[in-house]
Amino acid sequence: MNHLIQRLSRLPGLGKRSAERLAYHLLKQPAEEANELAGAIIDLKANVRHCAVCFNLTESLVCSICSDAQRDHSIVLVVEQPSDVISLESTGMHHGVYHVLMGRLSPLEGVGPGELNIASLMERVKASAAVEPSSVQSKSTAVPIREVILGTNPTLEGDGTALYLSKQLSTLGVKVSRLARGLPQGSHLELVSKAVLADAISGRQDVR
Ligand code: ZN
Repeated sequence: MNHLIQRLSRLPGLGKRSAERLAYHLLKQPAEEANELAGAIIDLKANVRHCAVCFNLTESLVCSICSDAQRDHSIVLVVEQPSDVISLESTGMHHGVYHVLMGRLSPLEGVGPGELNIASLMERVKASAAVEPSSVQSKSTAVPIREVILGTNPTLEGDGTALYLSKQLSTLGVKVSRLARGLPQGSHLELVSKAVLADAISGRQDVR
């Protein structure tokens, strides 16, 4: 029991009291319930990984969004976390693909460009530009990227990350836009309502 409480209390957002409550709750549950939970945790580590293209979470090498030929692979929406992909997908407004940075630039916390999936984004844009226009079919996963939408959170660090990315991307000759300003300053995408997110996508503005 102590071992479980100790482990649970290391989880984000769980103090010792909450960990104790959870442990007692589990103790009262039928064995199958507890086994299901333990199994889900084991599965998570064994089967969930980052997409080789966009770094979203997936159980295959390439995620279902990146392998969907019906989506517009010429528009890439850059977000901080996989949870942002879920929020944006729930709006149904983005028909392009994603690139997940796995964080945002934070000099104070020692997070520089090298700690994020930025080099892979640049590489992705560059490599896509090399696709022969004549070989491009209207619906294909291999098309030149023509627009990168910066969808980092409208926080100080998210804005700083967007500024850095827009400077880097401008050297590649790709159109760069930022989710519209309707997003409340300091908010996090995963906590913003669907309607506001949908407006932010449709009203995105060019970055110069
Ligand atoms: Zn992907």
